[in-house]
Amino acid sequence: MDRAPRLEQVRRAMADVELDALLVSKLVNIRWLTGFTGSAATLLVTDDHVLFLTDGRYGHQAEAELAAAGVDAELVVTTQPGTALTDACASAAASRVGAEADHLSWAAADLAAREWFGGLELVPTRGLVDGLREVKDPAEVARIEAAARIADAALAAVAPSLADAPTEIEVAVELEAAMRRLGAEEPAFDTIVASGPNGALPHHHPSTRRIGPGELVVIDMGATVDGYRSDMTRTVAVGDLDDTARRLLQVVAAAQAAGVDAVADGVACRDVDAAARRVIEAAGWGEAFVHPTGHGVGLEIHEPLRLAATSGATLAAGHVVTVEPGVYLPEVGGARIEDTVEVTTSGCRRLTGSPLSLAVD
Ligand code: ZN
Ligand code: ZN
Repeated sequence: MDRAPRLEQVRRAMADVELDALLVSKLVNIRWLTGFTGSAATLLVTDDHVLFLTDGRYGHQAEAELAAAGVDAELVVTTQPGTALTDACASAAASRVGAEADHLSWAAADLAAREWFGGLELVPTRGLVDGLREVKDPAEVARIEAAARIADAALAAVAPSLADAPTEIEVAVELEAAMRRLGAEEPAFDTIVASGPNGALPHHHPSTRRIGPGELVVIDMGATVDGYRSDMTRTVAVGDLDDTARRLLQVVAAAQAAGVDAVADGVACRDVDAAARRVIEAAGWGEAFVHPTGHGVGLEIHEPLRLAATSGATLAAGHVVTVEPGVYLPEVGGARIEDTVEVTTSGCRRLTGSPLSLAVD
């Protein structure tokens, strides 16, 4: 991955809002810019300089990762970053310093204003780096796709066991172990396995409930490769279904297909949501589709793009988003089908590849 263009993008975005320096404290933004994977770092970007601050646990790691990423930065290992930040601003003759308002804690912002950047104007920014991360380059898409392949293989390996009355926890543990064996760094998020009536809870936490015949099982899972995450939901039919369960699957599958068909460069996010929602509303279950149709995915499992009725955003080639309509009927059950897709000029490309319809008995 080529990091140099990313720093230049950040500098252009800084210039647009007249910043002389930007304090980056959100770790995934630091990772995107520098390749650093540790859990403690702060970055200060100025016109012609990058100051990278970390503590003693990460000095050698930061040196190696920044070198591997080809990032030319001044590395300072300290638990007291104030002096280095003050000096860097002085040598850049900075007067306006941006900070990440959605990330910096109140305490840190107070410290920054009083001690690190005393006498300078500290300006809150929102989504400056996050916005640049929305369009993925081919190397990023390749990593998300590799993560999706791992999740596909794990689900294919574990799904048949749903016929053997496992608990939800047992299924989640097997899926996560399979993903790790197949090369995932970690699951992309805590795997959701929601069987029978538990399927009515979109973010159910796997329980000791045993899966039985005639049930729908909502499985929401993803893998992580080089920091990039995949996100996929399948609703598995176990044994013979009753009419309601069958209809749930049909309606959600039709809604998901309509949503995926609507995705393309230049399409409003809210129009994708409407395309999927229309199908569910026509089936009489509009009130039971209780979340947006999708979200951005990348280094974070939920990135700011939302395929939602309230979104004013427009899809662009290189965006990676999920399409995941669901219907949730309290005390009955639920269904959701979710793919991660790459937006292209002509439509989209599914990165998650598991069969959309899965049945075991
Ligand atoms: Zn998901
Ligand atoms: Zn999702």
